Amino acid sequence: MKMETLAVHGGHAVDASSGAVTPPIHLSTTYACEPGSECPPDEYTYSRTDNPNRRGLEELLTLLEGGEAAAVFASGTAAIMAVVQSLQPGDHLIAPLDGYRGTAVLLAEFFESWGGTVTYVDMSEPGAVAGAVRPETKMVWVETPSNPLLRLTDIACVAEIAHTAGALCVCDNTVATPVLQQPLLLGADLVVHSVTKYLSGHGDVVAGAVVARRADALFDRVRRVQEHGGAIPSPFECWLALRGLRTLPYRMRAHAGSALQIARFLDDHAAVRRVHYPGLPCHPGHPIAARQMEAFGGMVSFNVHGGADEALAVARGLRLFTHATSLGGPESLVEYRPTVQCAEPGAYDHLLRLSIGLEHPEDLIADLSVALAAGTAGHHRNGTSASAAVPAPTAGGLEAVR
Ligand SMILES: *Cc1c(COP(=O)(O)O)cnc(C)c1O
Repeated sequence: MKMETLAVHGGHAVDASSGAVTPPIHLSTTYACEPGSECPPDEYTYSRTDNPNRRGLEELLTLLEGGEAAAVFASGTAAIMAVVQSLQPGDHLIAPLDGYRGTAVLLAEFFESWGGTVTYVDMSEPGAVAGAVRPETKMVWVETPSNPLLRLTDIACVAEIAHTAGALCVCDNTVATPVLQQPLLLGADLVVHSVTKYLSGHGDVVAGAVVARRADALFDRVRRVQEHGGAIPSPFECWLALRGLRTLPYRMRAHAGSALQIARFLDDHAAVRRVHYPGLPCHPGHPIAARQMEAFGGMVSFNVHGGADEALAVARGLRLFTHATSLGGPESLVEYRPTVQCAEPGAYDHLLRLSIGLEHPEDLIADLSVALAAGTAGHHRNGTSASAAVPAPTAGGLEAVR
């Protein structure tokens, strides 16, 4: 079945006890069980171990990613932590230079203090990955497109390097989602998600997931961390996430379609210095993206001409984009990133990262157009700063909408 059909029908059935078409929320913490008998493993006993809402969400994520099993967690970070906790002291992990900052924090503050070691490489260079392999390398961590620079990693190629080294390949698929990219089918062993973002999709759930290509000993270990570590999402959060997933394929189509239009608009704009979007043919990862993704995703990062003042003025001038962290919701967000650690020092200073929401793309482009004109007056492709005093952009019809 196709993704749209799986998303609508996977993970639940008509409720046998009531006939409810929409799944009920099971708040019970404990489940009746025959005295003196061991509960069969597929039956519910206690809600931290398993419950119907969580099982439904795990089943649907397994289907969408094309894996064999999934475990959901209280956040994307808890899912990442569970994977890291499957490693041993002395193990070596290869991680991307550009990636979700929380992953690097967790590796530095926990994994390394437990006696693990990490080498950061430019994952868009397979040679750099192969060159970082050591005898004790156990895992290669991939995030593609990466956050915030939207760099591309060739998943099949890096998974092969990992497997040749006797290591596992894990892919953070938060930005692409299984609708646009299925890392397990390209050779990754585990996929991790911040379910908080596109999967839930409405900015009202914090949750995470690990999906495994094989329900093997590695996955059992992740399941043990879930069960005994206890960083689980509540039944209501699982219910909300499953509800959000029903529309994921249609939402991703809209996010990606609008992002492509906006990336093209920005690329043509005289005040914009550089656009990071894998759907643009000039993006270095475009050929890989075209091969391994269905569409190029809903995140666009860019630099304007000028410095912090200009970038901040653009961020402040936007009316439809709220300045906030996170991504993947119906409303567009902008986030100003002063500096980021990257392989090209300085190249990405004063980055503006956009999460393109589900508004009409023409309205978003109009908003960007006003904010860019006002925020970067005097700074454009061939000019130097004239620093003209610019009136604050008018909100147009938006105040009335709000
Ligand atoms: C947000 C995010 C995470 C962390 O997820 P939380 O749900 O916030 O814990 C991990 N990876 C990526 C790519 C993210 O965007």
